[in-house]
Amino acid sequence: MNVLLVYAHPEPTSLNGALKDFTVQRLEAAGHNVQVSDLYAMNWKAILDADDAPQRDNSKPFHASLDSKLAYAQGTQAADIAREQEKLLWADALILQFPLWWFTMPAILKGWIERVYAYGFAYGVGEHSDSRWGERYGEGKMKGKRAMLMVTTGGWESHYSPRGINGPMDDLLFPIQHGVLHYPGFDVLPPFLVYRTSRMDDARFTETTDELGRRLDELWSARPIAFRQQNAGDYEIPGLTLKDDVAPGKQGFAAHLI
Ligand code: FAD
Repeated sequence: MNVLLVYAHPEPTSLNGALKDFTVQRLEAAGHNVQVSDLYAMNWKAILDADDAPQRDNSKPFHASLDSKLAYAQGTQAADIAREQEKLLWADALILQFPLWWFTMPAILKGWIERVYAYGFAYGVGEHSDSRWGERYGEGKMKGKRAMLMVTTGGWESHYSPRGINGPMDDLLFPIQHGVLHYPGFDVLPPFLVYRTSRMDDARFTETTDELGRRLDELWSARPIAFRQQNAGDYEIPGLTLKDDVAPGKQGFAAHLI
């Protein structure tokens, strides 16, 4: 199987760096092919702007999504964007690895998503009409592929528990797992989380990599998070709210889980 690891940490000798190296070794030892997009090492351009469509008509105002659509359709995107899209198409599984920074991913990874997820590639895919909202949330170009987050935090596990002060981790990660990964079609596996990283020592590192190794071994067999599919009958069209008889009384993020 082919695995793309998109890794966002500025320091190779960090905990994240060690977990990244472990991940690559474990997957390769199991016979998988691994590509790493090490965003800081690549000096990845994190901002989406007119330079992403180098052949655009500069006499017209830049429009982030329409210029993306045109450049993708015409094959005139910036070369770094096209290369990352090729890696995504090559991959059977995607891992996004990052330290939690201000309750979400580092800006450089957000910029990877904004730029690589072009119009026609990750959104705006399929029929868009009064009766259909395209292929998304369970369908799309990434359908059949798996994805998993690997996230480290300074905060304790209890801070991210259902009544913890930071809010539940499932809720914080919902926009990434449901919005960024399920939207273009990935099956999303439960995240691999390392809390309270300041308390890491050699013994805990061994426990952590043991657990990570198990999770990587199960990349193809683990049960994905049961997000609802947009086009499977649970949602009213065109409003895309849950039908009254689906998850009655539930609202918010949890309602979009079966
Ligand atoms: P490092 O700092 O590199 O290492 C952590 C510990 O692991 C150190 O004690 C180190 O000695 C040890 N270690 C490293 N490698 C090994 C190894 N191979 N074997 C054994 N031990 C090792 N946290 C939150 O919870 N919520 C937030 O919103 C949040 N926002 C942040 C925003 C910013 C801008 C920053 C800088 C930090 C933020 N943090 C937050 C904390 C952040 O999530 C953690 O600092 C980060 O997850 C730690 O990962 P690291 O790879 O940088 O660890």
